[in-house]
Amino acid sequence: MVRYWLLQPTKRPARSNTTTRFPVSASRRLRSSFSVVTPWPEIQPTEQLMQFEILPAGMERRFLLDVMLGKLATYLRICGYDTLYAHEEGIEADDAIRKRASSTNRTLVTRDHDLAARTADAILLHSRHIEGQLSELYNNGLELKLPSQPERCSVCNGCVDRIALDLRPEHAPDTVSDIWQCRECDQYFWKGSHWERIQETIDTV
Ligand SMILES: [Zn+2]
Repeated sequence: MVRYWLLQPTKRPARSNTTTRFPVSASRRLRSSFSVVTPWPEIQPTEQLMQFEILPAGMERRFLLDVMLGKLATYLRICGYDTLYAHEEGIEADDAIRKRASSTNRTLVTRDHDLAARTADAILLHSRHIEGQLSELYNNGLELKLPSQPERCSVCNGCVDRIALDLRPEHAPDTVSDIWQCRECDQYFWKGSHWERIQETIDTV
């Protein structure tokens, strides 16, 4: 199996930024301008640089959502996007939000005109409703699509893993055979009516 390191620019990416995946390792020169993020922390990069591929713009975008956008955070996480929500992070002041977006290389999404104007690469939303907000993100080039199976916890943004059937929680419906659990908050997930409602909403975009 080929394993990929996800390398993220240490400088704020441009709107048209692409994220680069390098199989196996990154050279010293590359690591001076990229930070290495990997889901396999026990494995350290080697010095040997292998081939790489550039993902389409938007595929690996990470977001920080301003307060009042909690529902949108849920949708983006279910679509697989790494999404922090300012309210959950305990930050409300504009400067703190701008700083967090910058320090974590995230695109800020906000309905605050002034905050958007003062933040590089921010996305300003106008709609108060989830359908409108999703449409605005789609018009900003964001792909909105449910993954074939849950990837990210809608509650805390943690990654989820499929669990063995004998570990299924008592409250899971008997008709459900595939269950995932969040690595961070232990929440269980399955594709139920909630998943279908989100799919229906996305279909309207
Ligand atoms: Zn979680």
